[in-house]
Amino acid sequence: MTNRHTAAADPAAPNGKPWRCVSIDVEEYFHIEAAHGTIPKAQWECWPSRVERNMDLLLSLFDRFNQRGTFFVLGHVAMRHPRLVRRIADAGHEVASHGTWHDRLHRLDPDTFQQDLLTSKHMLEDQSGQAVIGYRAPTFSIVPKTAWAIDVLIECGFKYDASIFPVRHHWYGVPKAPDRPFNVQARPDGPTLLEVPPLTLAVGSRKLPVAGGGYFRLLPLWLMRRGLAQAQAQQRPAVLYFHPWEFDPDTPRMPLPLLGRIRTYKGLSGATQRLESIMEQPGQWSPIAHALSSLERIAASGSTFCLQPHT
Ligand SMILES: [Zn+2]
Repeated sequence: MTNRHTAAADPAAPNGKPWRCVSIDVEEYFHIEAAHGTIPKAQWECWPSRVERNMDLLLSLFDRFNQRGTFFVLGHVAMRHPRLVRRIADAGHEVASHGTWHDRLHRLDPDTFQQDLLTSKHMLEDQSGQAVIGYRAPTFSIVPKTAWAIDVLIECGFKYDASIFPVRHHWYGVPKAPDRPFNVQARPDGPTLLEVPPLTLAVGSRKLPVAGGGYFRLLPLWLMRRGLAQAQAQQRPAVLYFHPWEFDPDTPRMPLPLLGRIRTYKGLSGATQRLESIMEQPGQWSPIAHALSSLERIAASGSTFCLQPHT
């Protein structure tokens, strides 16, 4: 199978336009980590599907701005909506993997992770006709404790990972990880994989998460704009991330705990307008796979980051 993505966009291009990517984690509202424990997998089929409707909106938005992105599709969505993956690919976007069942990697081991990963990879490749070379873990759950996932990704033929968030958060985050593309390894003698982290804003010695999700809807938009401007000034690639349900004010309300309700349902009505105002910013907006060789060069110019340096 060949990868149709061959055009390279240089993140430090001489025309001064920074390389930026809008990535979408293609999942339903009931797949989110905040619903784990409230909506078990056995009940997923009882909740109405909204993903096709929301993806119609997002795909037309990308078209309007003549931009292409990376879509990390969940295997469960691909199973239920096989034509959706083909539509994403036919529109010129990159199809990448978000796993199959949306389990944080903390709940898996190397064997069950490999099954989850390969199920999604094979399904997405069959449906899209593209080689699937990129992965993002549910809830950014590659951390030192789940470092084994890097070896499994390499074994399964992935060329990059986009799961390590260089911030501190109670569910995820590797605060010491670099804020630009880097080579990651599980342990000092382990093989390396290209890591493409989400955008952060450096404030003093701290890195603030400004790349998307709840931060995008709950915090002032100037934080994301400032993060993009800082990345441009530092010639740092910028990867943003969103979910289809974030653009759906009518998303069904699940009986979540209070904090989960605030994080999930606040800011839905203004999200589309916010994304439009971000996408109209100048830049070489393109899929991660299009810029792979440039991102690899940036990673090769820095040090390798080891998730478990003392094992
Ligand atoms: Zn997800």
